Amino acid sequence: MHHRAAPFPRAACRRRRPGWAGCGADAPAPTGLWTATRPHGTSGAKLGDATARGCGSSSAGNRPDLALQQPRPANAADRTRPDPLGDDATGPAVSQTPDALVIGAGPAGLMAAEQLAADGISVAIAEAMPTPARKFLMAGKSGLNLTKEQPAAAFWANISAGRSHAEHDPLGVPCADTAAFGPDEVMAWARGLGIELFTGSTGRVFPVGMKASPLLRAWLARLRDSGVQLRVRWRWTGFEDGLRFQTPEGVQHLRPRATVLALGGASWPQLGSDAAWMGWLRDAGVDIAPFQPANMGFRVNWSAPMQRFFGSAIKGVALHAGNASSRGEWVISQHGTEGGGVYEISAALRDGAAGSVDLAPDLDHAALMQHLNRPRGKLSVGNWLRRVLGDPPKVALLLEWGRPLPHDPQTLARLIKSLPLRHEGPMDIARAISSAGGIRFDAVDEGLQLRALPGVFVAGEMLDWEAPTGGYLLTGCLASGRHAGRAAAQYHLRQS
Ligand SMILES: Cc1cc2nc3c(=O)[nH]c(=O)nc-3n(C[C@H](O)[C@H](O)[C@H](O)COP(=O)(O)OP(=O)(O)OC[C@H]3O[C@@H](n4cnc5c(N)ncnc54)[C@H](O)[C@@H]3O)c2cc1C
Repeated sequence: MHHRAAPFPRAACRRRRPGWAGCGADAPAPTGLWTATRPHGTSGAKLGDATARGCGSSSAGNRPDLALQQPRPANAADRTRPDPLGDDATGPAVSQTPDALVIGAGPAGLMAAEQLAADGISVAIAEAMPTPARKFLMAGKSGLNLTKEQPAAAFWANISAGRSHAEHDPLGVPCADTAAFGPDEVMAWARGLGIELFTGSTGRVFPVGMKASPLLRAWLARLRDSGVQLRVRWRWTGFEDGLRFQTPEGVQHLRPRATVLALGGASWPQLGSDAAWMGWLRDAGVDIAPFQPANMGFRVNWSAPMQRFFGSAIKGVALHAGNASSRGEWVISQHGTEGGGVYEISAALRDGAAGSVDLAPDLDHAALMQHLNRPRGKLSVGNWLRRVLGDPPKVALLLEWGRPLPHDPQTLARLIKSLPLRHEGPMDIARAISSAGGIRFDAVDEGLQLRALPGVFVAGEMLDWEAPTGGYLLTGCLASGRHAGRAAAQYHLRQS
């Protein structure tokens, strides 16, 4: 196994500061610490208003406050409290120097921080955006599908890791601990935060309120109460004298003993996960598979007659590609085909499998032939097909992708059961629900520690795995965050 030098050069450290790796007795101070002062006369410094101090500095004005924001006020008396989910959230100053740093406040990072704190390690989270977990909140807009209620083995079989995953357990980690945080554990965890859940007919599990924000508020409050610090508008910008951050106060450098990177994948970059980290980690010797869209739509150059069907939901059809199939609903959009049904077969389509649509999945060939053999009378082809297929958008799809239609009923029946799904390729990753690719599992050890960067652990969608929608993504992120957090805590304790 090849280990590169740690990214935090000891030569850069001047003074001892417990908890900050590399700051031995003869070491120089890091140029930035997790230390901030509350401006005089204000009720709360902005979360991004940290004032960096030297390694050994302390301030009587600094309060060892909990830096995480309070949950949204439930009544007027609480309205002075900041809303953790709003822009420019304000909060108390931070004065503690954490032993471990988590970068990225998505579900994977928050779970890593929760685990580190539970293992007795002081931990802080650096987040580039003004508020945490924006993608998690976005996931809640269409109904937060937290997990899927199914036996663990069946559940984890839906998660596929990139190269070399066959040797490992579901998340590519040769350790059962990751898979140990499966659907049952995720449901118990959410209920522990006071969130009521329900299971839909397909086994998908949602909060009763469908939204992410109540869960996130409760979670942030619990993290705050366990001493986890959160610093927003702190953007990690690479390795330089430790970990370099762009902050509202200028450049800061941190040198924690253990770091968990939970920076997300490459979809919806406007929510924070812009994959800017790829170059810095590659330069440090980390093997990274290129990102590709996952759970995405496909571009279609529709003919003019299809315009009237833009926005139409396609229900009651089956999609097939390779070994994947779906009975889920999807939508004809201006740009192509989008929606859950298409996402379920999107990985196979993306990887080159031919797609097909069964426009009459509840009829076998013989039953369909009975419909097609009925006399057409004076009906136009379109109206006749509508009687058979029941739905104008389905007929439109048959005409769009099946023309010229065969006259022979046998051949027409076969076409209706297996209409070629014609597309121009996947939609852009920026529109995808998630991404495939990322840090290869060969590049991490069983604790999700980067082999090239000892002391640096990784979790969540930045790792090279993918899964369909259905709660698999969030559960995978939470499981890997917990696993990386636990391993980082053990690493920290070994170093102490
Ligand atoms: C529209 C939509 C709906 C979804 N619905 C569901 C669903 O219902 N169920 C499900 O299971 N999954 C769903 N997902 C997927 C799920 O939200 C993601 O898989 C999950 O959020 C990934 O978690 P993560 O912690 O790995 O990364 P992210 O949630 O992307 O968090 C990464 C964090 O790192 C921060 N960051 C990035 N770079 C830096 C930097 N340089 N410095 C500091 N911070 C940085 C980002 O700002 C971000 O806050 C949905 C996704 C989308 C887009």
